Amino acid sequence: MNILVINCGSSSLKFQLIDSDSESVLAKGLCERIGIDGSRLVYQPAGKDKLTFEIPMPTHKQAISAVLDALTDKGHGVIESLSEVGAVGHRVVHGGEKYASSVLLNDDVIAAIEECNDLAPLHNPANLIGIRACMELMPGTPMTAVFDTAFHQTMPKEAYLYGLPYRMYEDYKVRKYGFHGTSHSFVSKRTAEFLGKNIEDMKIIVCHLGNGASISAVLHGKSVDTSMGLTPLEGLVMGTRCGDVDPSALEFIAKKEDLNFAQVMNLCNKESGVYGLSGGLSSDFRDLESAANEGNAAAKTAIDVFCYRVLKYIGSYIAAMNGVDAIAFTAGLGENDGAVRKQICANLAYMGIAIDDAQNAKRGEEVLISTPDSKVAVVVIPTNEELAIARETLKLVK
Ligand code: AMP
Repeated sequence: MNILVINCGSSSLKFQLIDSDSESVLAKGLCERIGIDGSRLVYQPAGKDKLTFEIPMPTHKQAISAVLDALTDKGHGVIESLSEVGAVGHRVVHGGEKYASSVLLNDDVIAAIEECNDLAPLHNPANLIGIRACMELMPGTPMTAVFDTAFHQTMPKEAYLYGLPYRMYEDYKVRKYGFHGTSHSFVSKRTAEFLGKNIEDMKIIVCHLGNGASISAVLHGKSVDTSMGLTPLEGLVMGTRCGDVDPSALEFIAKKEDLNFAQVMNLCNKESGVYGLSGGLSSDFRDLESAANEGNAAAKTAIDVFCYRVLKYIGSYIAAMNGVDAIAFTAGLGENDGAVRKQICANLAYMGIAIDDAQNAKRGEEVLISTPDSKVAVVVIPTNEELAIARETLKLVK
């Protein structure tokens, strides 16, 4: 069956058409600047060059329409007609406490996702726009919602509750939810398979290190803790997000700079992280590393703060699980940056962790980067959230 995977943001939309039998990507692409002048579709049929189409996309419906036209185009299309799309899997950021797994979409589910809008005001409304537009254009095609939060719904209370008055949880569901769940689930499963072990017997720490970054503790196949919180702002120092800070520091900054709540949140989400620490140099580690190598002290500090925070979370999750069998690195930075992986693991030597430099230099494949005698396996596992969404979708529509 061909499954269309859609990841719809407020002004962009990523898609992949996946053949679920072979698990190969038939075509993929991206709509940019939806609702803004200069919108375009970047479309790539498998094994062929990328094509770019400047198409007006005032709404998401027009964007999805453009995607469907490209997929069925006589010249560059990969299917004859939309009847060859068996199902659509939508990435949805926040499923609240209601969804601990993926679900077939219907009116009740859409209403429940809408109820989570205030937990993810930047993401869920955009996801819903994509779902509704797709439903209008492809009536009768089964569709699923695959939630970023679902995998972490197995966290115990002691991990997901904040030290706030309990009624904040009871009245408003203020708690840790965690994100990147599709990736943490996919990578933890692949880690066990790659190492030839049963996930039910394993303690795994997954480090999803991209522009957004989070870590999870996966005990016997279930997430028992993760670094992101009610929103993706908590936890690691990220590309532009600050991660954990003393909440009182925010009040202090607000008073000093005469900022309101929204402005402080903007500072924390968009102007902080390694970007902010490096004095606005870059949020991309490639830029930071070349600057650090040329002697830029702020860039080096930003990298050091990032690695130290990851190390601290790994240490705390080893404690949370009373041990660890495998540590997996994934996402843009986790998959590509051997120097960062090595720096993070350097202080784990007490655990008997040792990195093999030659293995750690490999790129673009699943690889064991720890030495054969390392007590804990350290692996790089490329994540594939789209494939994970296609698999979930197939399970639900079969
Ligand atoms: P993601 O959000 O998973 O797409 O990751 C994007 C981030 O990964 C970028 O901002 C970079 O910091 C990092 N990244 C991607 N490729 C490389 C690379 N070859 N070397 C170092 N960092 C990389």
